[in-house]
Amino acid sequence: PYDVLIVGGGPAASAAAIYAARKGIRTGMVTDRRGGQVLDTMSIENHVSVTYTEGPRLAEDLKAHVDQYGVDVYTPQLADALIPAGAPGELHEISTTSGGRLRAKAIILATGASWRLMGVPGENEYRNKGVSFCPHCDGPLFKGKRIAVVGGGNSGIEAAIDLAGVTAHVTVLEFMDELKADQVLIDKLHSLPNTTVITGARTTEVRGDGDKVTGLSYEDRASGEIRGLDVDGVFVQIGLMPNTAWLTDTVTLSDRGEIVIDERGHTNVPGVFAAGDCTTVPYKQIVIAYGAGSTAALAAFDHLIRS
Ligand code: FAD
Repeated sequence: PYDVLIVGGGPAASAAAIYAARKGIRTGMVTDRRGGQVLDTMSIENHVSVTYTEGPRLAEDLKAHVDQYGVDVYTPQLADALIPAGAPGELHEISTTSGGRLRAKAIILATGASWRLMGVPGENEYRNKGVSFCPHCDGPLFKGKRIAVVGGGNSGIEAAIDLAGVTAHVTVLEFMDELKADQVLIDKLHSLPNTTVITGARTTEVRGDGDKVTGLSYEDRASGEIRGLDVDGVFVQIGLMPNTAWLTDTVTLSDRGEIVIDERGHTNVPGVFAAGDCTTVPYKQIVIAYGAGSTAALAAFDHLIRS
């Protein structure tokens, strides 16, 4: 059995693996793919100390760093159940869809999250070419340009306020007849001169010239009329879905499906820790996932020396 078994292969899992293995304990990793969401992006400009890198390159760097430490990596493998230890001192078990079973004294869950997609034509085609899911990551790329934010919940309005400071103009499109964000955010948005809100709008298409985004189309739900909006960027903010559906019966999840952790990465199950975008950690970013993964590994090590 492993001392620590990590589920996931993105920034949080990689940091956890490095920190655990450097303690000289038996460390395993089970992951669907190595690199995580980093593989879905190109330019990364907020990886502290690295002024510019690209997703595939960072994924390779993470892999190389983890592989220095003799971590057993099972990939591509999808975990489908966590069977927590029956009693203190017993082992936890992870099963995989391929029928594998791995046991460990401590588990670190770092399965990340997926951005909810609109599912409209052009959205995938123009990903990284004007379609973005992350204002903190890509906002500065749209300096002085006109952009749209799709989604009028808290994350959409926070994004719109943030982007209004960087871009020339922000249009928020919300499907429902009113914004769903907290009133204080809505008031702040309305106080900004370069923002417009369109409610009752169903985005139907992201338009482009083959190279980059040039606008979007939406249906005005009241009249059924299709209208156009000329923008250089579309930020999709309609929800982040943690990859935790397989854990609903074993660890406590928040109402958004995030694994509830404390400041050391403990879940409600002793010996089971979690880190990164799959948890309640505020702000979903690469460097935050590193910190969280490292914290979870150190907390798991503490758990091992006490049990
Ligand atoms: P993830 O990166 O999501 O990794 C989770 C891993 O777990 C994946 O490898 C997945 O395959 C695996 N997994 C999931 N379920 C299972 C299972 N059941 N069994 C086995 N394995 C499983 N952040 C920045 O800081 N800067 C940026 O510029 C930036 N740009 C981004 C651009 C895009 C398009 C996207 C989508 C995100 C971006 N982010 C950026 C956010 C950043 O990528 C995430 O915050 C970060 O990757 C989270 O790391 P994580 O390890 O928690 O999860």
